[in-house]
Amino acid sequence: MDADVIVVGAGLAGLVATAELAAAGRRVVLLDQEPESSLGGQAFWSFGGLFLVDSPEQRRMGVRDSLDLAVQDWMGTAGFDRDEDHWPRRWAESYVRFAAGEKRQWLHGKGVRFFPVVGWAERGGYSATGHGNSVPRFHITWGTGPGLVEPFEREVRAAADRGLVELRFRHRVDELTVTGGVVDGDAPPPWVSQRGRVRSEHTWPPRCPGASIDYPRDVRRGQPSSRTVVGEFELRAQAVVVTSGGIGGNEDMVRRNWPERLGRPPKHMLSGVPEHVDGRMLAITESAGGAVINPDRMWHYTEGIENWDPIWPRHGIRVLPGPSSLWFDARGRRLPVPLFPGFDTLGTLEHIMSTGYDHTWFVLTQKIIEREFALSGSEQNPDLTGKDVRKVLERVKPGAPGPVAAFMEHGEDFAVERTLPALVDRMNAITGEPLVELADIEREVVARDREIDHPFTKDLQITAVRGARRYRGDRLIRVARPHKFLDPASGPLIAVRLHILTRKTLGGLHTDLDARVLRPDGSPLPGVYAAGEVAGFGGGGLHGYRALEGTFLGGCLFSGRAAGRAAARAVG
Ligand SMILES: Cc1cc2nc3c(=O)[nH]c(=O)nc-3n(C[C@H](O)[C@H](O)[C@H](O)COP(=O)(O)OP(=O)(O)OC[C@H]3O[C@@H](n4cnc5c(N)ncnc54)[C@H](O)[C@@H]3O)c2cc1C
Repeated sequence: MDADVIVVGAGLAGLVATAELAAAGRRVVLLDQEPESSLGGQAFWSFGGLFLVDSPEQRRMGVRDSLDLAVQDWMGTAGFDRDEDHWPRRWAESYVRFAAGEKRQWLHGKGVRFFPVVGWAERGGYSATGHGNSVPRFHITWGTGPGLVEPFEREVRAAADRGLVELRFRHRVDELTVTGGVVDGDAPPPWVSQRGRVRSEHTWPPRCPGASIDYPRDVRRGQPSSRTVVGEFELRAQAVVVTSGGIGGNEDMVRRNWPERLGRPPKHMLSGVPEHVDGRMLAITESAGGAVINPDRMWHYTEGIENWDPIWPRHGIRVLPGPSSLWFDARGRRLPVPLFPGFDTLGTLEHIMSTGYDHTWFVLTQKIIEREFALSGSEQNPDLTGKDVRKVLERVKPGAPGPVAAFMEHGEDFAVERTLPALVDRMNAITGEPLVELADIEREVVARDREIDHPFTKDLQITAVRGARRYRGDRLIRVARPHKFLDPASGPLIAVRLHILTRKTLGGLHTDLDARVLRPDGSPLPGVYAAGEVAGFGGGGLHGYRALEGTFLGGCLFSGRAAGRAAARAVG
């Protein structure tokens, strides 16, 4: 045997599983197809938002949360309705208990801290039993994604120094073989074997059109890396933990699995994840006997903007919107209630796909963009990522945050104009077609402005904005004071073209609560475990159809820990 356990994928789930295995004294080989510069996978790029329930941060902000309320929200959002939802549902119940219990303390013990203002994502807008968070629960890690990866990377590297963990980068697993079968009595334990390819260090292909030769240069974190094979390997262990991530970087797979209930797949999609999120290990694990369930459940954003300074191909950034922008479809029709910014991601996606176009528009003011536009991702939040208190405090000052201002200046999806006619002209110039009529936008904006004159309104978006401002966190840094769009004091008018952005995979490898991969007949595939996004964050889909946000990193922590602990017990 080359190790007790092989872990495939050095993203957050793989690091957590490896740290747990090493803590239990097991020998691990941790493989990743990417170079060392990409250690931590997607989590490094993430905003570090974590779903916590009844935390001290919530209580300090005046938010009273409870396990019961969180379970109500989770189940209303997930909508579990399939026979194969047995394990996903069990995972969901355990995960919400974890988020309301041990999660914060466990992370705190590893040095993880949180930004004091708790965010309110996926606000819902339906009934109390429907989709959405009843209260703010999105806790931003101090240091964002890198701050969350750091303690687990530290533990894994320390175990490597002790000789318990071997890190092998540029090793791509192409085949998984399970030998042995049932563990009973005197039968030998099962062992699994990983076969794969070692890849060269250089980027591939050179990203200049027409060039046909590869040229060597260092691969920076998140950039596409070479597929050139320079050698082969075969490794054996008693168990393997698959932590290879989802399918969001593989547009073909996203299209193939696109569910009918969301309409046709968009013609044009941005990618919210690096290219290594390729989904290959799903089929490889299926070939070894594992089952994939809920492949049609996925989580893509409707507020994607093209990154003017891309790192990976088709790199899109998600706008984390506050609730005040007016949202129009490609033809200038306002989206229906309750599809306000930040309320119901997949409900909005479903609606957009029924319009016949892939893009939509936010129309807003300078005052709104200053308060309400946050961009998801560690590199778009250098103040929080760098743990720079002085810069973070500047968020309450007037003026758009630096990264947002950079998009306003360089981003091809932004129009900034003093008058509505000029704004609509610019919108049509951006799409290259006169899809939007001034009269349609003007009618909505003028009517909305009239509703601001008095404390009453029949416009539910205005009611929602006023309701949000009753929450201290929103009033402080997230939701602009209601104002008239056409008041020159509100600053220039802004329109932002929004694209569909692929991101998360909600289905995946079917696992039981010990993260053991199950066969199609429901029995465990001996020696094979899965965690993180490849396992739908646990069970093959603990989110069901929709998510409450901040639940993905947490799902990697919870399922990575479960897989590491269970595999450690099994090979002990
Ligand atoms: C910009 C951005 C912002 C985000 N913000 C948040 C947030 O605020 N809150 C939240 O909860 N979630 C967020 N997420 C989602 C979250 O970061 C991911 O879902 C999570 O990190 C996935 O972790 P993982 O370990 O399962 O997979 P990954 O991070 O994808 O890691 C998998 C690893 O496996 C490797 N691999 C794959 N196949 C093979 C193979 N065949 N052989 C060898 N290696 C292989 C890959 O190279 C990769 O390194 C965000 C994601 C992004 C990109």
